[in-house]
Amino acid sequence: MATTETDDFQAASTTSAFDATLSEADFDRLFEQAEELSEYFREIGPEFDEKNTFAFPSIERFKATDLGAISVPKRFGGHGGSLLQTSKIISELSKGDSAITLAYNMHYIMVGIAGGLMSDEQNEYWLGRVANGKELMFGPFSEKRAGFSGLADMKAIPQEGGGWKIYGTKTWGTNCEAASIITTNATITDAEGNLPETFEERVAAESFFIADFGFDTETLEGDGLRVERSWDSLGMHATGTHVIHFDGFFIPESGFICEWRTGAFGVLEWASLTFASIYLGMQARVLEESRALLSKKTLGAVFGAIAANEVKVSGVGHIVDGVGEMASRYEICRRVLYQTCNEVTEGKDDDWPLELRFPYIGLAKTFIAENVMWMTKHAMSMVGGQSFRRGNIFERLYRDSAASLFQPLNGDQTRTYIGEYLLQPDELED
Ligand SMILES: Cc1cc2nc3c(=O)[nH]c(=O)nc-3n(C[C@H](O)[C@H](O)[C@H](O)COP(=O)(O)OP(=O)(O)OC[C@H]3O[C@@H](n4cnc5c(N)ncnc54)[C@H](O)[C@@H]3O)c2cc1C
Repeated sequence: MATTETDDFQAASTTSAFDATLSEADFDRLFEQAEELSEYFREIGPEFDEKNTFAFPSIERFKATDLGAISVPKRFGGHGGSLLQTSKIISELSKGDSAITLAYNMHYIMVGIAGGLMSDEQNEYWLGRVANGKELMFGPFSEKRAGFSGLADMKAIPQEGGGWKIYGTKTWGTNCEAASIITTNATITDAEGNLPETFEERVAAESFFIADFGFDTETLEGDGLRVERSWDSLGMHATGTHVIHFDGFFIPESGFICEWRTGAFGVLEWASLTFASIYLGMQARVLEESRALLSKKTLGAVFGAIAANEVKVSGVGHIVDGVGEMASRYEICRRVLYQTCNEVTEGKDDDWPLELRFPYIGLAKTFIAENVMWMTKHAMSMVGGQSFRRGNIFERLYRDSAASLFQPLNGDQTRTYIGEYLLQPDELED
């Protein structure tokens, strides 16, 4: 039977690098490393949140573990961790510090996406470097106009001797301070640098590349690129999500992975589960900090909603209820994430209509995002005014949790995908 475009897309849709061959005993050993690293992230996190820079000392500590290769398939030198095992490691690290972990999460995402799409030869080379050389990846795709879903304005101009030179700006370069491998997307132009004229041609020309990355940390210049250390945001300070300007950055032919929209874009839906893992870890931290504080806090003599000589907040109805509610939400979110990881691994998502796979898998992320934002807000309300002071863990968690609004898929786009599918005319449904 001839393969249609839809069949290709469907076949590709389950592509990711996870080979899921890591035994539970070996996973436990790696998890212990994650617990230790998480402690270290917890220790240094406040300093780098305050300094508003990437947590540079975390690089050496991360590389001293085997965690960078957990999801690299065994045949390329990694540990062969499954999506769920990787998710558990990310959540554990995030419990220590979500901002530092979000940086390394970009590495996990790109290992998964690029690893699932590269040829064996490319994987042996690039994932081999990750597994054996402990190198890190990152993936700046979003642009100022285009965001994440807009077609890339960044150009890849073909060179006479082969390969491309890249021109344009990526505005979200999480983990660029630690990575030595870049994966990115750009639209292949003609030899004069003209973008294709029609929408369809632009879609087809947008391509996914991999290359060496590096820059001088003093001048911030690299070969054909410049890093603008301009990351200044409400939260997630330690991610080092800087702007990267490309001006003739060379990518050899061997750095072409595949088409971006029709190749990679359709297979990255599982990546939202790594973001979900970040915010699940953050939920665990919110619960932990709330319990630690609220179980001990005493108000003394009060005259308000309660009037009494001696009040421990752990006995106040709305606080007992609030902590119970938090724990319940965490537990439901954990089950949603673990179940979604397992269903994706087992291919059960193939039972959903093709159009709903992306938003339905993404539901774990949007659900956890909504709940983590509820939890950080509710924790502040229960803890009281001290949580509002700069440097307090609760104001920090509140700011960091707001980042969950943005990573793809966001809640609005998820609902649009689902609503559009459900409201389409009957003839299209057929
Ligand atoms: C801490 C942090 C780190 C990040 N790191 C990275 C990174 O390393 N690499 C990277 O590539 N990106 C990164 N991002 C960027 C991020 O994931 C988004 O791409 C970015 O926020 C811009 O996209 P947007 O959808 O938020 O905004 P816009 O694209 O400007 O969207 C504006 C509005 O239009 C809506 N919209 C956009 N496109 C569509 C569409 N096709 N259909 C319907 N509605 C649409 C959006 O939902 C939104 O409401 C990071 C973001 C954060 C917060």
